[in-house]
Amino acid sequence: MGAHRDTAEDPAGDRAGDRAGGAALPRAGVPDGPDGPDADRVARRHAAVRAAVEQGLLGPAAPLAALLDVTGIRDSARALRAAFDAVTPPGTPVLHAFAVKACPLVPVLRLLHEAGIGAEVASPGELALARAAGVPPDRTVLDSPAKTAAELREALALGIAVNADNPQELARIDGLVCSTVTRSPLGLRVNPQIGGGSIEALSTATATSKFGVALRDEGARAWIVRAYLDRPWLTRLHAHSGSQGVPLSLMARGVAETYALAEEINGRAGRRQIDTLDIGGGLPVNFGSDVTTPTYAQYARLLAEAVPGLFTGRYGLVTEFGRSLLAKHGTVLARVEYTKSAGGRSVAVTHAGVQIAVRTVYAPASWPLRIAAHDEEGRPKSGPDVVQDIAGPACFAGDLLAEGRPLPRLEPGDHAAVLDTGAYCFAHHYAYNSLARPGIHGFAPDGNGGVRFAVVREPQTPAEIVAESGGAHTSALTAL
Ligand SMILES: *Cc1c(COP(=O)(O)O)cnc(C)c1O
Repeated sequence: MGAHRDTAEDPAGDRAGDRAGGAALPRAGVPDGPDGPDADRVARRHAAVRAAVEQGLLGPAAPLAALLDVTGIRDSARALRAAFDAVTPPGTPVLHAFAVKACPLVPVLRLLHEAGIGAEVASPGELALARAAGVPPDRTVLDSPAKTAAELREALALGIAVNADNPQELARIDGLVCSTVTRSPLGLRVNPQIGGGSIEALSTATATSKFGVALRDEGARAWIVRAYLDRPWLTRLHAHSGSQGVPLSLMARGVAETYALAEEINGRAGRRQIDTLDIGGGLPVNFGSDVTTPTYAQYARLLAEAVPGLFTGRYGLVTEFGRSLLAKHGTVLARVEYTKSAGGRSVAVTHAGVQIAVRTVYAPASWPLRIAAHDEEGRPKSGPDVVQDIAGPACFAGDLLAEGRPLPRLEPGDHAAVLDTGAYCFAHHYAYNSLARPGIHGFAPDGNGGVRFAVVREPQTPAEIVAESGGAHTSALTAL
């Protein structure tokens, strides 16, 4: 684990690219790379890092904090809506449901809700978060491969859209539909089996994926068509072909297959039985620089070319984007506690490691993260690059956020900013070494050229760690 060196093509090796003379990727945090909204986001991030240090969000006693860019999240929500508005006829029902698993924080769900984005949930916990945020049932979609009978009952009672994952679950829903009246739009998830992307663990449309009804398996297509004809209440069709690492063209193929199946079912039914297609999420994020690419607009245009029938207004649409809405708006700020040298390598020991970026630490080749060096006051550091390891605080050798990374030399008291961590990172705490969950702070301009922060989640205290670790049951085992 962790025995991996960044290479020149590695998207995280953004400074190595300059020296290699290849396509020079912009340096992390240097605003002359990206332009327009991306440059604005970089400027906001710099101001926020400086203000977080100045306002005492970080300090010797609070060595780790996470920041969320409220302006950026609103911008991404607006861009998503505009991208699909541009390719659908006016009046087409389109629900963009944020995949809650990407950033399961109630204030984030509320912010997105106010920006016109609903919620895609996949567990009782995620549903509770969406409800706590005030996302109404008709803006909520429930997907998960392991829904219990109780979860299905609750969803149908609330009127939340449900996509059945498999024939056994559909049989359960049959029973519920017979015994209750529900407003829930109901659908079936299919796996178009179009193949995987570069990250096996995130490829949901491989031949053997655990999700949905495998469309190309023998007899499956006929079974699906019959399942719809037998159930006039089955009005949606769902596919999510994968996430980070799946090329856009492959995602579009998954949507095209789903659309073709809906057309076939409606043709057989002799009516528009399927009225809504849920095309999932999965837009990849560029973790290699501050440039947002691909964009929602590019993906929507590609879909409109690849599957024009989807955008004639005959179908309502549901999308389920997660990572692409949040990743670029999150930054982890960690104090550098010590610096040392080992075997000729400089190591900066920081407070950000496996607990906030579990995927990066255990699968660094798939999940490289950019690190920006900031000084004691939170200003971007300059100076000659020194090849350094950026280590976390956990007690195992592989707890490294970056290995062999050229950065201005970090010193104790400096700050390492871990960029693009707004999705699937710091909100997904890993409790190794009982390391505390960091506080999360939203930020926005204060109107006077400064930065205002709001607490999204309090930092976890040692007392909470004890309570969550059986502290109320101290003698439970000795008394047995
Ligand atoms: C994870 C997931 C998503 C979101 O994927 P992103 O890559 O974060 O956009 C959407 N739909 C389903 C069913 C998922 O499992």
